[in-house]
Amino acid sequence: MLSPCMLCKAECCRNHLITVTSFDVLRLHGDGYGVPDFAQFAPCSTLNFDNDMVLEFHDSGLAEDYLLAFRSNPCYFLVNGRCEIHGIAPSVCKAYPKNASGKMMGRLCPGIPKLMHGVLGTEIRKEYAKEIEIYREIVTEWNRGRGRMRDCMPFLLERTEEAANLMGNK
Ligand code: SF4
Ligand code: SF4
Repeated sequence: MLSPCMLCKAECCRNHLITVTSFDVLRLHGDGYGVPDFAQFAPCSTLNFDNDMVLEFHDSGLAEDYLLAFRSNPCYFLVNGRCEIHGIAPSVCKAYPKNASGKMMGRLCPGIPKLMHGVLGTEIRKEYAKEIEIYREIVTEWNRGRGRMRDCMPFLLERTEEAANLMGNK
């Protein structure tokens, strides 16, 4: 079946900072990918983000803001113009150019493919909104502890694994 993305040069994969949740990282970790290879804490450099997903690190004594993201521009998983992890790509990628609520966003998605996404629909995992909700709670808990960057990823993965086990959704 013709995919709208076949008409595009993976603009979203090349040009976005791919912000993800710890559920996406955990899935790839479970699939054998080394977390430091593909994931990073990216400094918040714009105001256009979801505040509830901002991780605070106190290494310097002051709170510094970061987002959990893939190594981006282009995405670490974009190989020869194709997504290397297509089946287990993050929910944000599967939903794009829509958001978790199904609302059309995707400013980088070009005209005709974007129209096709609107008509054909994009795959939005039913667990996506729930994962975002739980990730926000995990981020809030992390921020309360005023921790250091090096301790954050183990914390996120541990809490996410517990939550995923409860949801039966790892
Ligand atoms: S994970 Fe795949 S779909 Fe998502 S940005 Fe990277 S290459 Fe693109
Ligand atoms: S979602 Fe849009 S921008 Fe991303 S690869 Fe598909 S057509 Fe291109």
